[in-house]
Formats: sequence, C-alpha cells, structure tokens
Amino acid sequence: MKVHEYQAKEVLRKFGVQTPRGLICRNLNEVPSALDELGGNLWVVKAQIHAGGRGKGGGVRVVRSKEDAIQAAGQILGMSLVTPQTGPEGQTVRRLLIEEGLPIASEIYAGMVVDRQNQQVVLMVSPEGGMEIEEVAAESPEKIHKVRVSPTEGLTRGEAERAAKFAGIPDSLADQAVDLLQGLYQAFWNHDASLAEINPLVVTDDGRVVALDAKFNFDDSGLFRQPAIVSYRDLDEELPAEIDASNVGLSYIELDGNIGCLVNGAGLAMATMDIIKLYGGEPANFLDVGGGASTEQVTAAFRIMLANENVKAVLVNIFGGIMRCDVIAEGLVTALSQFDSAVPVVVRLEGTNVEIGREILKDSGLKLIAAGTMDDAAQKVVKAAGLS
Ligand code: GDP
Ligand code: MN
Repeated sequence: MKVHEYQAKEVLRKFGVQTPRGLICRNLNEVPSALDELGGNLWVVKAQIHAGGRGKGGGVRVVRSKEDAIQAAGQILGMSLVTPQTGPEGQTVRRLLIEEGLPIASEIYAGMVVDRQNQQVVLMVSPEGGMEIEEVAAESPEKIHKVRVSPTEGLTRGEAERAAKFAGIPDSLADQAVDLLQGLYQAFWNHDASLAEINPLVVTDDGRVVALDAKFNFDDSGLFRQPAIVSYRDLDEELPAEIDASNVGLSYIELDGNIGCLVNGAGLAMATMDIIKLYGGEPANFLDVGGGASTEQVTAAFRIMLANENVKAVLVNIFGGIMRCDVIAEGLVTALSQFDSAVPVVVRLEGTNVEIGREILKDSGLKLIAAGTMDDAAQKVVKAAGLS
C-alpha cells in the first residue's frame, strides 16, 4: 500500500525524524491561512499524489512571496500531473502540502528496502541526493553505501555514523544524522514497510538534518496489524478496477497488454503470463483468485477484465485442487452467463474431476475455447486475440 508524502512524514515524525513544518490544503481557500500560519518568506508548494518525480513534472514549486504561492497552488491543485512514474495520462492533484522552505546546503539520498535474499532490511545512502537512485546505481554504483541491518540488533549507532559520513554529512551533525537514520529504521520496522525513501535528506545552511521528501510503501500482508497505516489509504489514488478486485479478495494488477488472465495461485499466474509472452502475446493484467475460485470472485474478475477496452481475449487457467474442477466449471458458467461480450475466452482446467468440469463447460452453450496444456492454451489465446 502506498501513502502520500505528508502521511509518510507524519509516520517519520513519530520516530523523531525532523521534517519541515507543513500544512495540507484540499482547496485554494485554505492556502492563505496556511501560509500565514507557517510564516517566514520562503514556502514550498507540493502536489500530493502516489508517484514520485513530481519536481520534474511541475508539481513542486519553491516560492518567495504569498502571491506566488497562491498562484502556484492554483496551478497545481486540480492539474493532471505527469511524472516519469505516473504514465502519460498523469494523476489528478487533489491535495497540496504547503511547507516552510529551507535553505539547503546539500541533498543526500537515504532509502530502505527488504532484501528478500538475505532476509534483512538494507539501508542505502548516497551523497547524490535529489537524483533518481536507479540512475546513480547504473552510472556510479560506488556512490551508494549499503548496510544490511541485523533484525535483532536494529540499525546500530556505528552503522548509522558510517553511513552519514559516506553521505558527506559533516561530523558535527553526526548525532542528528544518527537520530534520523535510526528513526527511519524504526518507522520502517514497526510499520511493516517494504520500502522507504528520503530523497532528498538535506543538510541546511544553519546545520540541521531534515527529511525534505518522504516515501513509504507498506506490505499489504501486514496491514491487518497496522490500523494507523490503513487509515491513510486514499482511494482516489487507486485504479477503480484494483479497488473492485480488493473488495472480493482478488490480487489484481493492471498491465499494458491485451490478453486478460484469470488464474488461481500467484505462481501459476506468473507462469501463465510468461507463456503468453513466449507465444507473442502481452498480458493485460495479473489476476490471482487465490486458492479457490468462487463464483463471486470469477464474476468480479470478468467484470474487471471486460471493462478494460484493451482486452482482446481472456485466458482462464485454473487448477482444481482443494476446489474441484466441476465446482469451478459451474462457477465459470454462472459468472460468464451474466456477460454479453464478444471477447473470446479460452479455458484450461486441470486437476480433480477435470473430465466432469470440461463436460459442464461444453454443455453450457457458452462459446468457450477449450484448451489442454499450458502451451495449447497460450497459443489459442494469442490467436484468439488476433496476434498470430
Ligand atoms: P519529487 O520530485 O517528487 O521527488 O519531490 P521532492 O520533494 O524531492 O522535491 C523536488 C526538489 O525540490 C528537491 O530535490 C529540492 O531540490 C526542491 N525542494 C523541495 N523543498 C525545498 C525547500 O524547502 N527549499 C529548496 N530550496 N528547495 C526545495
Ligand atoms: Mn524526492
């Protein structure tokens, strides 16, 4: 799950991380009083969307007068912000974060991810702040310092000090840097985060170490024990199809291709996507209906896939283990009968009672294309989509 920058900063502040003072505005009327309350003569107007690279797209503006701030707010609020991370249609800006501006002496990168291979959280720092870390990693990997954090010890003082030194933070500010990095680690660990980024982390002219930007992703599997994080969910930032899917327990991720996939089990779903690509097709989505495949889920899955205009054919690839193939076939027939769609559907069933299941599909009167093996199914769906 993703959250906004101002929410990520709220989480960080609970762990003692310094951030600029800021206020959130949902409409332009709130802007003048926010500027007054923050005071000073330098402000930053920041679009809040679930995507980074906002600066490049015109979503972050540093302003020196209230007039300029109000003008910038008017331009940003409601705009469709296009950044390298949003896709060409952009994302509508519905919330603004107005912050006090800070005099920046240097910009540093600090990030954390879960390293699954080593089963540890890894802290990464670089003196090349403000840049995209992927670029730094590709062009000058020696400028990134990595610390594998022990799950029992946490991020130690020594590790944090060395990281701060590598990033170019002056020794006189080491204590502040250690507090920030350890606070970041605790926020990450305590909230089941999967990714955290402070880019840039800045040193100010007056010797403060501050998180100027903040990004967190949280592990969906940990949300049941993170009510505070769940309360940050902003449905405006999620695709309607993905919301629809999560309501019935489907894992659904929209992709750019044109072959819809309805599969049970994440492993089988990935194998199905691979084989579609092998035969020259492009999956339109990842969709895992979980261990079973209830009529309700299959119905929702078709509603979601068929609403996507790019979908030219659908491949249903279901393994009936605990849930028998005949039960799945009944569910498929019930679900599919509700839709009046010209999109061809290829079905591959395998597992317990598969023969009965296939009979049910054949006798249903629905125009389904039956497939045997994975190869057969992939070739048939690519052909049905008009791609071969
Ligand atoms: P992003 O583009 O979505 O990653 O947004 P950021 O929050 O990282 O802001 C982009 C850039 O705006 C930063 O790298 C800074 O250079 C600049 N910026 C943000 N806040 C301030 C500020 O308070 N003072 C100054 N001078 N620049 C700022
Ligand atoms: Mn940033």
